[in-house]
Amino acid sequence: MIITKDKVVSIDYTLTNDNGEVLDSSSGRDPLGFLHGHGNLIPSLEKELEGKVKGDKLIAIIAPDQAYGIRKDEMVQEIPLENFQDASQVKVGVQLQVENEHEVRIATIMAVSESSATVDMNHPLADKTLHFDVEVMDVREPSQEELEHGHVHGAGGHHH
Ligand code: ZN
Repeated sequence: MIITKDKVVSIDYTLTNDNGEVLDSSSGRDPLGFLHGHGNLIPSLEKELEGKVKGDKLIAIIAPDQAYGIRKDEMVQEIPLENFQDASQVKVGVQLQVENEHEVRIATIMAVSESSATVDMNHPLADKTLHFDVEVMDVREPSQEELEHGHVHGAGGHHH
């Protein structure tokens, strides 16, 4: 069975940066399961997987503008401590989820003063070229429920 839209795909993967440092990996975990063609992976990686079958291996090198984007200076902002739910959690290096009307972002605390924190809302993988080393572990038909939800249920997928 080949990977096309609406197939459930399981992959083992290792994600490294330009220096070969591992950023993320399925090693030691269940393979990552996803419903192909529903935006569950970055689109350029889905495109590379299109047409592959179980047992295929591939290396995909994805430029920042096709992955998590380019860093923007205006995404680094000064936020008053009183705007945080719990100011005691605001420490340099801590990552928080920040929500606005459009999306959920990961914010990294860069600096903290007596009254405010400098927060970087660029994606942690912004500006990074992503090197994916992927092996296709399984390809199967989705259940009706998975199709309706637009994601995979069970091992490696959502649980609910
Ligand atoms: Zn679901």
